[in-house]
Amino acid sequence: MSKALSQSKDSQWDLVVVGGGGAGLASAVSAAQKGLKVLLLERNAQVGGTTAMSVGSYTAAGSSLQKRKNIKDNPEWLVEDMWKFDEALLTGDSPTIRTLYAQQSARGLEWLISLGVAFSGPYPELPHRVNRMHNVIPNSKTYIVRLLEAAKKHGVSIVTNAQVGDLIITDGKACGVRYSNGGQELTAQSSGGVVLATGDFSGSKSLREKYLSDSAAKALPINQNALGIGHEIAVKHGASTLQMDRLFGPQLRFPTPSKGGFLNLLPTWKWLCKLEALIVNSVPTWVLKPVVKSLLVAWMSPTDAIFKSGGILVNQSGNRFGKESSPAAELAMQENCAGFIIIDETIAKKFNSAPNYISTAPGIAFAYFTDYKRGRPDLVTSAKTVKELAATIKTDVKNLEESIASSGLKAPFISLGPVYSMLTVTEGSLAINAKLQVLKDDGSVVKGLYAVGAVGQGGMLLKGHGHHIGWAMTSGMLAGEEVAQALKSQYSTATS
Ligand SMILES: Cc1cc2nc3c(=O)[nH]c(=O)nc-3n(C[C@H](O)[C@H](O)[C@H](O)COP(=O)(O)OP(=O)(O)OC[C@H]3O[C@@H](n4cnc5c(N)ncnc54)[C@H](O)[C@@H]3O)c2cc1C
Repeated sequence: MSKALSQSKDSQWDLVVVGGGGAGLASAVSAAQKGLKVLLLERNAQVGGTTAMSVGSYTAAGSSLQKRKNIKDNPEWLVEDMWKFDEALLTGDSPTIRTLYAQQSARGLEWLISLGVAFSGPYPELPHRVNRMHNVIPNSKTYIVRLLEAAKKHGVSIVTNAQVGDLIITDGKACGVRYSNGGQELTAQSSGGVVLATGDFSGSKSLREKYLSDSAAKALPINQNALGIGHEIAVKHGASTLQMDRLFGPQLRFPTPSKGGFLNLLPTWKWLCKLEALIVNSVPTWVLKPVVKSLLVAWMSPTDAIFKSGGILVNQSGNRFGKESSPAAELAMQENCAGFIIIDETIAKKFNSAPNYISTAPGIAFAYFTDYKRGRPDLVTSAKTVKELAATIKTDVKNLEESIASSGLKAPFISLGPVYSMLTVTEGSLAINAKLQVLKDDGSVVKGLYAVGAVGQGGMLLKGHGHHIGWAMTSGMLAGEEVAQALKSQYSTATS
């Protein structure tokens, strides 16, 4: 994939896309499908971004998969249901952008299907009133692989190890970018403008400290490369930001297994994905249970209900540092943001059957204590005494004794962990309008500048599974179309 720039220090394009995650690749492909000459610049050695690290669920209303299962749905219901996730947190949300997402979400999904992306489902997730969660087969890397194939087919030029540092503004309009690649400082000019698709800012310590709580500033980002560079570039040129202080997290998370979950090891060949989708969509759920469980133990967050049932959280030194009222925020303030959940056999037994799960992917399946014991033995330690437990998880015996004495736990003990306080994604982004154009504080547009995906949420807060990927893909597709349409109008005005 890595490609050295063989052309001159300056190059001319119809569109320059900054960032090669899901949203950027979707913008580039959709613009190229309309005949535009597109350059995509990616700062990492590989495209993929957070999109390639995700589970890959995509929430949409009105999809062909829903229709096949006789599920009646419409965009208005999707807008209403997304607000039901957390009405308090959604104060100041953008109804315009949310409506745009809801109206176009199914078209985005069908467009991906037309590129060969296969989905299973749809699955339920409360408070969505109908099943809307579509899961990519077999894993989120499929989005990237299929979009890359389409980019190649439609002639998109992709340059990796290319970090965009600034926009070129001429006559008040974004008409290119400055970037570095292979030790060279380069420029790329674009007649149709620039699409920023640079992701969120969870990996930027300075932006976290500036906008978020102390615990969020300290928690570990899952994607340390999500640096918010696009946010900063746009702000420099007058763009307005929205909801920068809003966040759903931090969350407790178990580390992923060193070899990756079973689903992440499956190849993303188009024929195999289609076959897998056919199987997943036609066999009873129980047949797939072992496969689904492997996903759950690979990625999930342990539920806070464990603490309500008497489990405790200790840091790496064995100290119980809080009261587990806000476990992830408390753990963020500890060394390495790391700790262990300590339970006993009574709690383990309780969390071995419905409705008490350890972690879940809503609507797909639940993972219980035994699933962790079987699927992630590296995370489960059983010991008859505190001394034995302390030795196995390599923590201080005295501290651990004190911590356990402060709880109601009874020997034998079980440790789940290590567990970390982590940030999945941030929600704050550039202000945009329904044409994905970036806005200034006074509501006027930064001419020629578009933002999509996490950097272009336009104030929309996305809580629940499948909304971020849904928006990344949908907004990317729409921005490519918008730029193509704008260039066409520009061209016909110039020639008439
Ligand atoms: C563990 C995990 C699981 C998740 N699961 C789901 C899920 O199942 N469903 C869901 O909806 N959401 C999920 N999310 C969230 C979702 O993955 C992201 O919100 C979404 O993929 C963001 O897409 P994006 O294209 O905007 O950003 P990204 O995919 O992060 O892409 C941004 C790209 O821009 C590049 N870039 C940044 N700055 C520059 C620059 N200056 N120059 C050039 N390139 C640059 C980056 O290197 C990166 O490749 C999950 C997130 C995590 C961490």
